[in-house]
Amino acid sequence: MIIKNANIALPGRNDFVPLDIEIQEGKILRTGADLSGDEILDAAGLQVFPGAVDSHVHFNEPGYTEREDFYHGSAAAASGGVTTLIDMPCTSLPPLIDKKALDSKLDIVKKHALIDFGFFGGVSAKSFFGDWKNNMKDMAADVMGFKTYFLSGMESFPQLSPLQFEQVLRVAQSLGRPVLLHAEDPALVEKFTKREQAKGDSWLHYYRSRPEKAEFRAVKKAIKAARRNSADLHIVHVGTGKAAKILRRYAHVSGETAPHYLAFDIRDLERIGAALKTNPVVKKPANKNILWRCLQNGTLDFVASDHAPAPDEMKNTGSVWTDYAGIPGSGTMFPFLYSEALIRRKMPFTRFLQITAENAAKRYGFFDRKGSIEIGKDADLVLVDPKAVLQIRGADFLSKGKITPFEGQVFQGKVIKTIVRGKTVYDADKGVVTDPGYGCFIRPAERS
Ligand SMILES: [Zn+2]
Repeated sequence: MIIKNANIALPGRNDFVPLDIEIQEGKILRTGADLSGDEILDAAGLQVFPGAVDSHVHFNEPGYTEREDFYHGSAAAASGGVTTLIDMPCTSLPPLIDKKALDSKLDIVKKHALIDFGFFGGVSAKSFFGDWKNNMKDMAADVMGFKTYFLSGMESFPQLSPLQFEQVLRVAQSLGRPVLLHAEDPALVEKFTKREQAKGDSWLHYYRSRPEKAEFRAVKKAIKAARRNSADLHIVHVGTGKAAKILRRYAHVSGETAPHYLAFDIRDLERIGAALKTNPVVKKPANKNILWRCLQNGTLDFVASDHAPAPDEMKNTGSVWTDYAGIPGSGTMFPFLYSEALIRRKMPFTRFLQITAENAAKRYGFFDRKGSIEIGKDADLVLVDPKAVLQIRGADFLSKGKITPFEGQVFQGKVIKTIVRGKTVYDADKGVVTDPGYGCFIRPAERS
């Protein structure tokens, strides 16, 4: 297939390049002027980006599919230009703490995925009742990293003690995989939650129960532990500016933020309510500009959605303390970043490509195949109409989750087609245009 007349986002360039792309057997064969062939996709007026990588989603299958599953989750992701996702180990049953759980999950979800996907393995306090070291070893070849928590609300995936965390850092290091951390200080959050719960049931109380210093303190401790053990650490969903700023204190630490921390703050939580409830909670207004700066200057490495929807009866229970924490985000991530980062904030073009695709692919070891438009790589592409606008309507989401804090917002630019390994999986006019199971399981490259 030849994609003709497009403006292509090539790595390392400062602007689009008007070239045609030839795709053969799912890979980019060449780029050039006036290419011809039997099958033509005319992309006149459109921009072609490398498909976005969403390296933090909770698709909940098997186990919690009343909230989300791989079919709906990957359809939502594809509708927002995502071509590769990585699913978290903690929100499916059984959790991915051993190879058996991994194999059985893979058997199920590979029949449903529309786009390419990888897994994170996990280590929880429950892992320590079993042969956790060998379980990590058995999973290492199949996972992009190991997810851990300092503070977890999940009974099926309890948080690690500081000592356990350090042990996990060392084992992961020996296996050549990063440890991912949900960084909130459990003692601080427990103390503030008790205090705020006694005071009332408003969004301000909820916000105060998870103070910014809980994230800052946890990130600081985790970086120290990583440094002590010469380990490789990644902090997920950083929302506090002060915590983002210290990520570069140690070379082997990286961090991601999520669109909701860039777009919203406590004032919005008070206005929007449960549709914006996430853990960690959104922060004080001043954090947003710091996060944007950290994304621009490389202190934060990339953006991931932390997609974790839930149905209305779980999102709106009548109390801020029991409403489900999590929002659908995979479908809105790239459209938000295109509109807000590239167009409105004029983020440098090369940096935009890094934070949406390149850096996550590099971090988790699949940049040899994905994450940029380069000859020999998978033809994972998203075609954007820069002139069109997208109005966000949760009711239209392909996710099972329809409740979004972005409801009603208008983004500049619109995803027209999402292409995975040369095949269109999503079309703005037709919706999903491939069969469940097209998405392939991907592993990190072997390290030399
Ligand atoms: Zn998450």
